Amino acid sequence: MKRALVTGGAGFLGSHLCRRLLADGFEVVALDNLYTGSRRNVEDLLGHPAFRFVEGDVIDFATDETFDEIYNLACPASPIHYQARPLFTTRTSVLGILNMLELAKRCGAKLLHTSTSEIYGDPLVHPQVEVYWGNVNTIGIRSCYDEGKRCAETFCADYIREFGTDVRMVRIFNTYGPAMHPQDGRVISNFIMQALSDKDITIFGDGSQTRSFQYCDDLIEAFRRYMELPVERIRSFFAAKGLGAPVLNTGNPGEYTIRELAEETLRQIPESKSKLVTKPLPSDDPKRRKPDITLAKELLGWEPKVPLREGLAKTIAYFRTR
Ligand code: UDP
Repeated sequence: MKRALVTGGAGFLGSHLCRRLLADGFEVVALDNLYTGSRRNVEDLLGHPAFRFVEGDVIDFATDETFDEIYNLACPASPIHYQARPLFTTRTSVLGILNMLELAKRCGAKLLHTSTSEIYGDPLVHPQVEVYWGNVNTIGIRSCYDEGKRCAETFCADYIREFGTDVRMVRIFNTYGPAMHPQDGRVISNFIMQALSDKDITIFGDGSQTRSFQYCDDLIEAFRRYMELPVERIRSFFAAKGLGAPVLNTGNPGEYTIRELAEETLRQIPESKSKLVTKPLPSDDPKRRKPDITLAKELLGWEPKVPLREGLAKTIAYFRTR
């Protein structure tokens, strides 16, 4: 039986990944410090004979066990959470990946590192392609996350060059779905929670900024396809594309303004008495974001299948049960 370690395994995406790995026949260890993750997300798995939950931190997790695959998802990812503890966020990104790279090197494991569209900052290239280097503030309120994730990519690239470690990186664009924390603070969970409780729907700025929203199942499918590929195929693919390391955008290229998202949320919760209100735009808030997923399509034969309307309906159904 193959063994997988999922850091951030009790988080929104980590818990979906654990479920998928178990279904794919893996023995799974989920590591989480429960800062933003929750035991509730993996409660249904606790009795599973091939699943183990370890409460601990990715920075200093030490083990003699070996793994075939490591998925590094541990890091607060929602702006309110990562900005609440900025030093912790940078440390988690940078020291966390370092610890996982050492573990992968020792075990000879494949390592999938989850990076983010935030490494592009407030992008000057649209849609964002992997060869774009980004436009990032080093000292702003988002920098702890953006720069932490950028440095993590650098560590991955250098472990590949120095030690030949088998690392695969994904830059995740906005992703949503069931198991998101109701107080996550991100736009989709905020709008749904507000609409369900008849509170004002808070649009930051004028709502003309855009995002592209990917349903969680689509992303997990991309992870698994990427991990299944032979390392030689990955190395030759990225070398031919002129990229110094294997890094893939994963997101849904459908682009919506935040105001459109608010309107669609209200359409799907017709009983809501909520009104749209505007609030000041947080600093460094990117104006446009949309992934170019040409590389992922070509390498993985993958593209997102769940349109926003359908994914939103599933997510609303989940939040109604909470
Ligand atoms: N946003 C909003 N209202 C909210 C939460 C977020 O208008 O209650 C906006 C936010 O300013 C940003 C976009 O929605 O432009 C996406 O924000 P989110 O925090 O989900 O993720 P980001 O893409 O900024 O990391």
